[in-house]
Amino acid sequence: MANRDRTPNPCKELEEDLVLLHYSDLAGAERHALQDHLVSCAGCTGYLKELATLLPLTVKADEPSQTFWHDYSRELRHKIDAVSADELKKQRDRLKRAAKKTPLLISAVSGEGMPEALRALVEVIGEAPVSLKAKGGAAQAEPWTPATPQG
Ligand SMILES: [Zn+2]
Repeated sequence: MANRDRTPNPCKELEEDLVLLHYSDLAGAERHALQDHLVSCAGCTGYLKELATLLPLTVKADEPSQTFWHDYSRELRHKIDAVSADELKKQRDRLKRAAKKTPLLISAVSGEGMPEALRALVEVIGEAPVSLKAKGGAAQAEPWTPATPQG
């Protein structure tokens, strides 16, 4: 511990006890003695406060925050929708060659491609919902078929 300029200075011999106290891991008599000491020692009190702010952060450090995920998902959506029509066609053709199927393009922002994706899903599942059959609706008019690979 070389550089501790901004760290409150606890009594050296109590430093370890303060950490134990922070984790509620200090036995009765020792805890009471330390709590009595804290009343009159600014150094130890400050150190304990700092433990309370620093230690939870170290534990949670590798767990991304809610804000992180919110930003991440927003950024991802924007990336998908930010692709130019040209680029989209290129990517689609590459995917098509690789998968030997026509990829479905879906926009999370505009909802474009969603009906096609749902139709494809129904096709895969094998049975259209009764409501769609009854209507004889759009889902039946234009069934999805996988493209046959060219050449
Ligand atoms: Zn002290």
